[in-house]
Amino acid sequence: ADHRLKDVEFTETTCGFCAVGCRFQLVSKDDEVLGAVPTDDPADAPVNDFSTCVKGKFGYEFANSDERLTTPLVRGDDGELHEATWEEALSRVAEGFESIRERSGPDALAAFASSKCTNEEDYLMQKFARAVLGTKNVDNCARLCHSSTVAALKQTLGYGAMSNRINEDIGDADAYLITGSNTTESHPVLATRIKRNVDAGADLVVFDPRKVEIAEHASQYVRTDPGYDVAWINGLIRYIVANDLHDAEFVEDRTRNFEALREKVEPFTPEEVERLAGVAPEDLKRAAETVAGADSVVFGWAMGMTQHSHGTQNVLALADLALVTGNLGEPGAGVSPFRGHNNVQGGGGDMGTLPNLLPGYRDPGDPDVLDEFEDAWGVRPPAEEGLTVPEVFDEALAGNVEGLYVMGENPALSEPDLAHAEEALQALDFLVVQDVFPTETAAYADVVLPAATFSEKEGTFTNTERRVQLVGQATDPPGDARQDWAIIQALANRIDHAGDAWTYDGPADVMDEIADVAPIYGGITHDRLDEEGGLQWPCEDESDPGTPYLYEEEFNFPDGRARFVPADTGEPGDLPSEEFPLTMTTGRVLYHWHTGTLTRKVEGLLDHVGEAFVEVNPQTAERLGIADGERVRVESPRGSIEVRAEIGDRPGDGVVFVPMHFADGAVNRLTGDHVDPTSGIPEYKVSSVRIRRL
Ligand code: SF4
Repeated sequence: ADHRLKDVEFTETTCGFCAVGCRFQLVSKDDEVLGAVPTDDPADAPVNDFSTCVKGKFGYEFANSDERLTTPLVRGDDGELHEATWEEALSRVAEGFESIRERSGPDALAAFASSKCTNEEDYLMQKFARAVLGTKNVDNCARLCHSSTVAALKQTLGYGAMSNRINEDIGDADAYLITGSNTTESHPVLATRIKRNVDAGADLVVFDPRKVEIAEHASQYVRTDPGYDVAWINGLIRYIVANDLHDAEFVEDRTRNFEALREKVEPFTPEEVERLAGVAPEDLKRAAETVAGADSVVFGWAMGMTQHSHGTQNVLALADLALVTGNLGEPGAGVSPFRGHNNVQGGGGDMGTLPNLLPGYRDPGDPDVLDEFEDAWGVRPPAEEGLTVPEVFDEALAGNVEGLYVMGENPALSEPDLAHAEEALQALDFLVVQDVFPTETAAYADVVLPAATFSEKEGTFTNTERRVQLVGQATDPPGDARQDWAIIQALANRIDHAGDAWTYDGPADVMDEIADVAPIYGGITHDRLDEEGGLQWPCEDESDPGTPYLYEEEFNFPDGRARFVPADTGEPGDLPSEEFPLTMTTGRVLYHWHTGTLTRKVEGLLDHVGEAFVEVNPQTAERLGIADGERVRVESPRGSIEVRAEIGDRPGDGVVFVPMHFADGAVNRLTGDHVDPTSGIPEYKVSSVRIRRL
């Protein structure tokens, strides 16, 4: 027997990678995580029972990496980062932020929270920005993934979140329309649920410019031209309404503004849809009849819908389609934005890590709301809207943002147009990075603070179905690294500010404050989560069992009715040209996660996919004379990368795909700076490029 298995400890926790929110037990010994095994009781893992994907099984290994940050680092007069004590590092941060605030005012400072951190940590980060630094500028990386979803769903349905459950609704729908989601590779356990139901007879319709793996299971796959999604969605709505296939009773009883929708979709005839989006009339008709004819439809999407210069319009159109077919407020149906990071629902939005909303999506423009926060914090939060992530970079370059605090994010790889982002990071007067590894962003920092990862902390994550679940601590952080909440609290008590001193005992204590100020979390406590398992918000008081699916009785507006908001089509910002004739799109692979700061430290995952590549359709490759496996240069008007070519028919002719996870061959050297005007989300999904042989 392996002697290492003696005296091991088992800690129940929630996966730190994606927002499916799988639960499992970490096996640890002597402050080292040895493995991950299923929970004893499937009831403790409501989403995944006993299964996990490869990242859940092996992805924890990065926690044991020798490359972890174990001590604070402070940049010295020689321009290098040097090891420092916490005392030195915290003083340097306090001085840095205070001197900028004194010189240029609080709005010369900005803070980025992290969808990888716990709810409690993200709540404290936005409170630190607003109540301690006094700045209105706080945002997080959800700006880059689903901010357009939140903007669109809030306008149409009232909550900017998934309406339904993973198992009971997504797992049991009569039909699916999935678009802009590589579900199998990005949300593997959720994809398994869908595929199981499709095997049992459910219809699956996939619209996507790239024939992603889940499309192999579809009853109908439709290849679309990148960037024209409103056209085919409005085309579906037009066909459904024109043929009286819509749910007239639902529209009459539960919605407003239907006539405006009918008028808006009128020009989207099948011929016009074919011209704009490359969808053949017979494909449009077949998909419309499937969607309108099914008893319950789940509309699933991810960043292929959201990361466009008209991403909000794309999601508005999807919400309109769900409403017109009456697929909301009942089991088995609903709108399902598949969120990315483990805690992007909670840390990316619910906790108020947004420049325009306070915790619980509360409006800082409402003086009564500000009164409540002032009572809780001892200081009034700023009422004005702050800067989004891309705006912070623009304003840093303009000299208006001088200091930035980045927790758990890696904008030096995740921002579009990296040359621009690097210039902005260099232009900052003072940058603090708090992370578990010396990331590409940490290379620009004045102070680097070593933090803990998910296996080293307690708290909660909220998964993509609004389920708040506990995170358990299996090991201590390495060396002098500390949990993020403790670092933020130490900084708050060191920086001069008008509010109350921070005296949280731990994350459970922070959750109690969240419950006080954010009514959708009003009934959530760590004790309850421990006893009852996850709770889905809104959960307004201790007797509220939570809300498995939204909008059963009414939509989240004073009159209880949903709003049709007709969507506009538009051109992508960076169309192919004679010089750059190909369209590049970006995305994930199964074995890695986002900028790869964690997964690129795991040998078992690197063995599967160890470097960036460009996926090229065989016809495109033949025209360019490129062979499979050949190294090529991909160039855009912004920059170039050298990567291996993979020939395959997932993308269509003229479209190429590059994954987002790698520093060498960083795709964001190529992406541009076009953003959606409503949400500020960058257009990662459409960039003009060319490929040259080396
Ligand atoms: Fe973790 Fe997502 Fe994989 Fe589940 S599907 S194990 S939450 S990465």
